[in-house]
Amino acid sequence: MNRDDAIALDHADPLAGLREQFNLPEGLIYLDGNSLGVLPRSTAARVQQVVTQEWGEGLIRSWNSAGWIDMPRRLGDKIARLVGVGPGELVVADSTSVNLFKVLSAALTMVRADAPGRTTIISERSNFPTDLYIAQALAAQQGFELLLAEPDELPALLDERSALLMLTHVNYRTGRMHDMAALSKSAHDAGALVVWDLAHSAGAVPVDLSRDGADFAVGCGYKYLNGGPGAPAFVWAHPRHAGRFWQPLAGWMGHAAPFEFTPGYKPAEGISRYLCGTPPVLSMAALDCGVDTVLAAEPLGGMVALRSKSLALTRLFADRVAATCPQLRRVSPQDDARRGSQVCFAHDEIGYPVMQALIARGVIGDFRAPDVLRFGFTPLYVRFVDAWDAAEHLREVLVSSEWQRPEFNRRHAVT
Ligand SMILES: *Cc1c(COP(=O)(O)O)cnc(C)c1O
Repeated sequence: MNRDDAIALDHADPLAGLREQFNLPEGLIYLDGNSLGVLPRSTAARVQQVVTQEWGEGLIRSWNSAGWIDMPRRLGDKIARLVGVGPGELVVADSTSVNLFKVLSAALTMVRADAPGRTTIISERSNFPTDLYIAQALAAQQGFELLLAEPDELPALLDERSALLMLTHVNYRTGRMHDMAALSKSAHDAGALVVWDLAHSAGAVPVDLSRDGADFAVGCGYKYLNGGPGAPAFVWAHPRHAGRFWQPLAGWMGHAAPFEFTPGYKPAEGISRYLCGTPPVLSMAALDCGVDTVLAAEPLGGMVALRSKSLALTRLFADRVAATCPQLRRVSPQDDARRGSQVCFAHDEIGYPVMQALIARGVIGDFRAPDVLRFGFTPLYVRFVDAWDAAEHLREVLVSSEWQRPEFNRRHAVT
């Protein structure tokens, strides 16, 4: 294979036109959509309209006339289509961290009511830190014990003491994807509940929460859903659980009738009780545009088509890098079925400056301590020729002494 073959793959790609939905800076190869998705072309005008018309002219009336009050549910119904659940089952609210707190807390309350002898929360040692921190805090508050293990050890840890299995479907650092159906079944067979974090899955890989036996799920709006920095997140509870218990942040937006202004809390039916406070309307408008860029793939085969392009992109890039950069260690699984939409390589010493040198060349990935160079492939806008060129830039950076420049060796706050 050569660069012309990569260009030919782009010409033959039925999804190629979806890239037109985005404002990509000229000349940039953007492989960080797993950290912050690219700005859709529609977003600026839409947010402008919400600001000048809905807020500026409509003012308070827009809660009704522009449907602001229903945004968490309306947007939730769109995201529901991407993760295999029904309308009315998922809402957009708060951040991933906060939503995780809400579902973990509700799940632990359920366990305490149904199976009081169960005291352990099980997760993966290299799960994203915020997930582990939230679980640690809740475990400490509620008298549970957090057990961490390597991915292959998880099923063996599930037993009669297990309350909860909490996992991120696609690992943020390695790109390794869990078998959601198999692990959910293992958890249920052991009598435990399972909570899935879809931060690196929603809009990136096909997800079917209902079919694959999930109990609760949360996910992120600013990664593959292109909602913009700090976009609101989403939360789902299986309908058989959603109405059973209060979640701990019993704010008025989760009340059955917020505008009756009664002093006592009465939770809304179903997933609406997972709302807390007033929705951030401007951020929701931006997220709406981002989610639409993913739904635009539906007539072209949807997530299944996006997944097959994503696998082809990550395979091309990983194979090129493996062939041309012997200094790097492959971290992401080679098996398509176990790999999310990202490719990671490690270097014991120079990962950080190599990534900085790449960014200076206009190839944007990121670095995850201690040693990982991370490259996210969003099939909506990344081309095969980008994957080819990025691998070539990486090879050039490694064989030159470019990465040794002092400016590439100074650590920034965000890596
Ligand atoms: C990105 C990410 C988060 C982000 O949480 P915030 O509350 O938005 O900061 C949480 N969990 C995982 C697994 C992530 O990848």
